[in-house]
Amino acid sequence: MQCDACGKDTVIQIRMEISGEQVTFQRCGFCEAKSWDVADSGELSLEGVLDLVRTTG
Ligand SMILES: [Zn+2]
Repeated sequence: MQCDACGKDTVIQIRMEISGEQVTFQRCGFCEAKSWDVADSGELSLEGVLDLVRTTG
């Protein structure tokens, strides 16, 4: 998939489950832009993901 920031096709996706939420972490190997996607709630801020992690303990 393409990077939203630089348009390069160098985005890697890492899927994980946090607090029962399917979360996809995307990182561009070229410009290092990062984003998170959550299956239910669409795009999530890094703060939101960290909140989920904290909830999990
Ligand atoms: Zn990029």
